[in-house]
Amino acid sequence: MKKTETYTDKRTVKRLCVSQEHLDQSRKAAQDAHPNEACGLLFGYEKDDSLVAVEFKVLPNIDHSAVRFSIDPSSLYESLVEAEEGGLVLIAIFHSHLTGAYPSETDKKFMELWPIPWLILSTTSNRFGAFILYEGRCREIKMQSTQT
Ligand SMILES: [Zn+2]
Repeated sequence: MKKTETYTDKRTVKRLCVSQEHLDQSRKAAQDAHPNEACGLLFGYEKDDSLVAVEFKVLPNIDHSAVRFSIDPSSLYESLVEAEEGGLVLIAIFHSHLTGAYPSETDKKFMELWPIPWLILSTTSNRFGAFILYEGRCREIKMQSTQT
């Protein structure tokens, strides 16, 4: 199996590159899930200090909650396998908030376990925020729009 060249140094990840289509898809997912949080996964590849999204996958929030989310473990597993078969890796976790586009204390707990960018959409301000928590430090990373 080919070695996946990714997540080599999370401290240097500077950018999350997403297409307008991915942003539209995530806005639609948030609308559909409202008033609950929507969630999904972004798959793609690493290029220099950027993570480039190729595919956005909406997954059901099995918590059916307005304040937290959980991705069904078997859907998560299937998505990861499918992505790997297509030569892609998980580059970011998406979910929506009814509040601001920044991580909650609960999010931070899980961000520790999934040290990749977390993309958060506030359905109140309609703004996106991308954050990564690594070695106890949470920082915002830039988002860049790519052409589809
Ligand atoms: Zn959250």
